[in-house]
Amino acid sequence: MPDDSTPIPHGLTRRELLKRLGVLAGGSVMAGSLSGCEALWYRQPAIDVDAWHQGVCRFCGTGCGVKIGIQDGLVVDVKGDPDAHNRGRLCIKGILNRDILYVEDRLHHPLIRHNGELQEASWDDAMTLIAERFRESIDDYGADSVAFYGSGQLFTEESYTANKLFKAGIGTNNIDGNPRLCMTSAAAGYISVFGADEPMGCYEDIDHADCFFITGSNTHDCHPIIWERVMDRKRSRPGTQIIVVDPRETPTARRADIHLPLTPGTDVSLYNAMIHEFIENDFIDEEMVEDYLTFRQGDAERTFEDLRAHVSNYRPEDVADRCGLSARRIREAADVFASSGATMSLWTMGLNQQAQGTACNRLVNAMHLLTGHIGRPGATPFSITGQPNAGGGIRDTGSLAHALPAGRVVANPEHRAEMEDHWGVERGTISPERGYHAVELFEAMRTGDVRCCLVMCTNPAHSLPGAERYREGMERGFLVVADSVHPTETSKLADVVLPAAMWTEKGGVFSQSERRYHIVPKITEPPGDARSDLDIIVELADRLGYGDLITAREPEEIWEEWKAIAADSYYNFEGITYERMHEQPGLLWPCPDEDHPGTCRRYVPGEDPMSDRDEGRHDFYARPDRRAVIWLHDQNPPSDPPTDEYPLIMTTGRVLEHWHTATLTGPLAQLEDIDIEFLEIHPQDARRRNINDGDEVLITSRRGEATLHARITDKVPLGTVFAPFHSARRMINRTVNDTVDPFSFEPEFKVSAVDVQRTIA
Ligand code: SF4
Repeated sequence: MPDDSTPIPHGLTRRELLKRLGVLAGGSVMAGSLSGCEALWYRQPAIDVDAWHQGVCRFCGTGCGVKIGIQDGLVVDVKGDPDAHNRGRLCIKGILNRDILYVEDRLHHPLIRHNGELQEASWDDAMTLIAERFRESIDDYGADSVAFYGSGQLFTEESYTANKLFKAGIGTNNIDGNPRLCMTSAAAGYISVFGADEPMGCYEDIDHADCFFITGSNTHDCHPIIWERVMDRKRSRPGTQIIVVDPRETPTARRADIHLPLTPGTDVSLYNAMIHEFIENDFIDEEMVEDYLTFRQGDAERTFEDLRAHVSNYRPEDVADRCGLSARRIREAADVFASSGATMSLWTMGLNQQAQGTACNRLVNAMHLLTGHIGRPGATPFSITGQPNAGGGIRDTGSLAHALPAGRVVANPEHRAEMEDHWGVERGTISPERGYHAVELFEAMRTGDVRCCLVMCTNPAHSLPGAERYREGMERGFLVVADSVHPTETSKLADVVLPAAMWTEKGGVFSQSERRYHIVPKITEPPGDARSDLDIIVELADRLGYGDLITAREPEEIWEEWKAIAADSYYNFEGITYERMHEQPGLLWPCPDEDHPGTCRRYVPGEDPMSDRDEGRHDFYARPDRRAVIWLHDQNPPSDPPTDEYPLIMTTGRVLEHWHTATLTGPLAQLEDIDIEFLEIHPQDARRRNINDGDEVLITSRRGEATLHARITDKVPLGTVFAPFHSARRMINRTVNDTVDPFSFEPEFKVSAVDVQRTIA
C-alpha cells in the first residue's frame, strides 16, 4: 500500500488528492434524514469548482441526474441535478461517484501473466497477445470457441460495438453479460406479454399511484431515490397504500401498510391466488378481457374461463401454508391492489432471480392487465433495472447470446438478414444458433469448448452463482479482463488485465429503468495508460482483421449508427441526439424526431408515437394481434429443495451503501465500517444450532461453502436466512443456486437450500 506521500498518476500525492477531495476531513458524506427515510439522503459540503457538468450516476438503474464539479481536471464534487427526475437528490452511492474515480486500486497499466504472476506490460504487447490467442482459437477451433462477457455498466456505444464485432465480424453469438444475472426474466416477461421489451410506464407514474405493489425489491436500500419518490407520494397523499412482498422485514417492508413475508420461491402461488381473488370479487376489467387480451398456456391457446378454472386451484387458503402467509392477508392485499384508483407495481431481482422468474414477471403483468391497472397515470407494472445501462446498453442493443439489436433475435432468419444488411455483411454471416448464456459460457470454458473470453467491466468470478465451478473455467481458458480496478476476483484469474477508463474519463449514453437515454460527458482523463472500453474493442477488431466492419469509432458516430438501425423498430429514438442529451437530463424513448418530447406511457393511443390508432385505451402494437397475453402458470416444485442435510432456504441481496461485488465501493474509507459479512438467521433457527449473535457460521450447500458471522434477528422468517453478496473475502455466491429459468436463463440466486452451523466453540 503506498504511503500518503507516494505520487499518483494525477501528479498529486495521495495526501494532496484526498485533501482536495475532502476525504481526509472525513466529512465528505453527511447523513441527513427525511421523515421516516433515514440514511437515504446525503448532502455534500459546497466546494469551489471550475465548472459544473451535467451527467448521470455511475451506479444503479435509478439513473439519477448529477452535476459534476471539476477543478484542475479532477472531479471534486458531485451533487444531485435539481432538473432531473431525482429532483436534486442522491443516495450515498451517488455522492461517492467522485471518490470511486480515485481509489488506490485503479489500474494504470496492462498486466500479462508470466510464470503465474501478473506483470506490467505495454499495450502493444498485451493487445498482440490477445489478438494472437483469439485468432489461433478462431482458426483452429471455430468462431464459437471465443466469447465476450459484458456488463450493464458499459456505455451503449461500447456494448453495441462489441455485439457487432462478435456477431457480424467474428461470427459467434457467444456474447452475453451480467444483465443475464439480474434482469433477463423481466425482459422475457415483457416480450412474451407485450411483444416488446422495457416497461411501458415511467417514474412520473409514482406521483399518481394510490397503491404500490412492491415485490422482490428492497427499494429503500437498492433504489433509494425511487423509494424517496414513493414516500413523497405517501406523504402528500397519506391514504396511499404500500404492499411489500418480501421474505425479510427489510427497511422497505417496515414502512409498508401490508407486508407479505412470503416463503422464497412461492411467488407463482401468491400471484395466482391474487388473480383468483380478482375473479371471485368482480375486480376483472371486462373491457380489457374482451378487447385487449388473449390467453395462453405453453403452446396452447386458452380463454378467460380457462384462467378461472386454473386459478381455482390457488385459493388463498390452498396456498397459505406453502407461501407462509395467512389467507386473510392474501385477500386483503388482492383487494387493495385491485380496488385502488391506480396501482403501480415495482420489482427487481427478488422476482427476476428465480427458476420461475419469467413466470413471475408474466403473472405480475397479468395482474395489471386483468384489473385494468395499466396505461393510466399511476397504473403500471414497472420493473426496476439494477445497473445504470443494462436496459439501453444490453437489452436494447441485443447484446445477449440470443438477441440482435432493437428486439430482434438470432433465431429469426428475417431478423438476421435485416442486421446483416444494416451492418453491411454478407447474408448468412450471423449464426442462427443461440450463443452460450452467462452460466453456460463459463461452464463451456471449464469443458474447453470456449477457449478465449474477453470480460469487460464486470466480475463474474464473484457474481456467478455456484461460483467455484465457473472459476475453474476462467482458470482453464485464456481469460482477458478489462476493468478500471485491480485486483478483482476475476482479474486475479486473468491471463491479461487491461486498465479501463471509467465514467467521466470516457463518454457515452446510459439508459435507466424508465427508458430514459442520457449522457455521461467525457470531462476528465483516465489515470496512467487506461483506455476506454470502446478503444479496446475497436483495437481488437483491427488486430483480428475486422476493422472495416467497425466504421463508426467515436461514441457520437456510433450513437448515430445505432439510432438509424433502431429507427425502423419499436425502439425508435431517432429524435434523441447527443446535442439534446447535453442540454437536458435525458429523454424517454420512443422519440421519433427531434421535436418530440419523449414518451411517458407506451401502448397508449395518442400518447405513444409508435401507435397509429387514434382511439381506444391501449394498442399493444408489438403483438401481431395487438393484444397482450395472459399466461397461465403453475407453481413448480423448488429447484433446490430443502432436505435434512440442507434444511434452510437462503436468499441473498444487498446493503444500501455497497454496490454489487464491491469492487468500486469496497476500497472506500467512508464505507469501511459497513458490515457486509453477516448472515441473518431467525432466533429459533439459531437456538437449535447453538449459535449466538456474532458467532462465525459455516454455510454449506450442494455447491460449496462460505463463512459469515451470525446476526440473529426475527426480521427473517423461521427457516429462511439472508446474506448480502458483496464480500469477496466471504464469497457467499459459492453456495448459491445456479439453476436457470428455462425462458430467460437467469439463475435462481434467491432460493438456495443450505445448512448453517457455528464454526467456533
Ligand atoms: Fe445513484 Fe442509484 Fe443512488 Fe440514484 S439511487 S444516486 S442512481 S445509486
